[in-house]
Amino acid sequence: MKDIPECELRGKRIAHDRSGEHTEYFCMAADGALLASSENDLTRMKKICGSCPLPNVLAHDPKACLYLRPIRFLEENKTYFACRTFYKLLLGNEPQDMDFCHACPYWFPRPPLELIRGHAEDTHMIRLSIISPPERSLFSTPVKHLPRKTLFRRMAEWFSRQHTT
Ligand code: SF4
Repeated sequence: MKDIPECELRGKRIAHDRSGEHTEYFCMAADGALLASSENDLTRMKKICGSCPLPNVLAHDPKACLYLRPIRFLEENKTYFACRTFYKLLLGNEPQDMDFCHACPYWFPRPPLELIRGHAEDTHMIRLSIISPPERSLFSTPVKHLPRKTLFRRMAEWFSRQHTT
């Protein structure tokens, strides 16, 4: 597709309506939101995907991680680099860049998407937590304002509690 970046999170499905069968494209980072409802008009998809940082990050950032769950809000053109392991700690403060992953001691190489179990379910849950963050999270200070050392110390404490209880 000319001028549209390749993306592992773009899906394709066959849909049916009164005019018959047609191909739709959807975004898995946006919980299946529609990008284009016909192969004959990809204008909207070109605009949305063309301004999305994820194709480049997923294909070229060596720190794209097994636990990374990219989240997109198409209308707002917002992208979150959420972590499957830590999103419950960061509720409402998901990272909006890859700095978090670059500094994480729990990084693990990202396999092909089809080998990552529960990716769609995680994406759905994390999107909900961004849309409606709970009133209280473990970190009352927004993550971007926490010194990195403090952040990782708290994450490590939480992580070890999960594995000792
Ligand atoms: S919006 Fe971004 S993540 Fe979604 S399909 Fe397009 S390029 Fe991929």
